[in-house]
Amino acid sequence: MTPSPDQWSGGCLCKSVRYTLRGQPTYFAICHCSNCKKFSGSAFMDVAFYRPEDYIINSGKEYMKQYIDRETGSGLTVIRTFCSNCGSSLSLKMETDERILVNGGTIDGKFDWIPTMEIFVENRRKFVPILCRPVPEVVDANEVVIPTPEDSSTSTGHVSPIRPS
Ligand SMILES: [Zn+2]
Ligand SMILES: [Zn+2]
Repeated sequence: MTPSPDQWSGGCLCKSVRYTLRGQPTYFAICHCSNCKKFSGSAFMDVAFYRPEDYIINSGKEYMKQYIDRETGSGLTVIRTFCSNCGSSLSLKMETDERILVNGGTIDGKFDWIPTMEIFVENRRKFVPILCRPVPEVVDANEVVIPTPEDSSTSTGHVSPIRPS
């Protein structure tokens, strides 16, 4: 499937799990926390926020396994989903929030989203520059509030939503 501006396809390395994303993400964010480094196996993790109804699993549900991550920097329980066949990290969600945070690396092809939110910046690897535009104020991770769709006018200053074009 060829991605179009209003639809994206993606999946895991072994192609067992395939999904479709409808529309643009509400946020495109970077997490520098140590748990997301381990989950992604990389220097940081990029995630695209989608409402559950816009994240459609087309195949491979039987390969999708969850790890319940209770030892997080924020203290919130995070449900992390991965492919049990190839080990690809697929998505995560906060236990208390319905939105799916889709791992950017699993999305097919190219997208031009620029992160508008970075969290746990104190854990940023030294070689990783600030990736967020506009450049965020440096804040303590404990002060970071991930805004809800109803509260996009959050006053934390360093967070701004990606508006659907
Ligand atoms: Zn797989
Ligand atoms: Zn994280």
